[in-house]
Amino acid sequence: MSTYLGECYCGVIKFYCDGDPFFTQYCHCNKCREVAAPSKRDTDKLGYAWTAGYLTPSFNITSGIDNLLEISRNNAKLFLCKSCYSLIYGISIDPTKQEGIGVNANNFYFTGSMPESFKPVRHIWYINKIVNFNDELPKFKDAPKEQFGSGELWNYDDSK
Ligand SMILES: [Zn+2]
Ligand SMILES: [Zn+2]
Repeated sequence: MSTYLGECYCGVIKFYCDGDPFFTQYCHCNKCREVAAPSKRDTDKLGYAWTAGYLTPSFNITSGIDNLLEISRNNAKLFLCKSCYSLIYGISIDPTKQEGIGVNANNFYFTGSMPESFKPVRHIWYINKIVNFNDELPKFKDAPKEQFGSGELWNYDDSK
């Protein structure tokens, strides 16, 4: 099984994940943008989040756990580095809506090219987007049903 290493922008918080993420996706929601705003890592602030979904036991912090800053937004708890404010991961507060955790994929570093399993499979909360994508990925207005959204797809008419 592959192990993927990551760290926050300043390097105080280090972690690893066992195995491939079960998906990665882009999230365009306002909460992700707000949380990314103070980050010192430029790639956190492109206007959308790149999130890797993992089951909680696969995610392991190896240093800097005391440097985590916990904040709550809507139904999520988010953990940032106190020093560089890069988002490390988020979990749902409601355990019945928690399939796992969302790890900020910008914090991974790969030896060689990015693994296939880190290629995003969809856009979510595209209704709140500030950055347009012309890719072929499905774009959900909010979220897929399995992520407790409406499952409705955004289409270009919605922006007119
Ligand atoms: Zn940091
Ligand atoms: Zn989001």
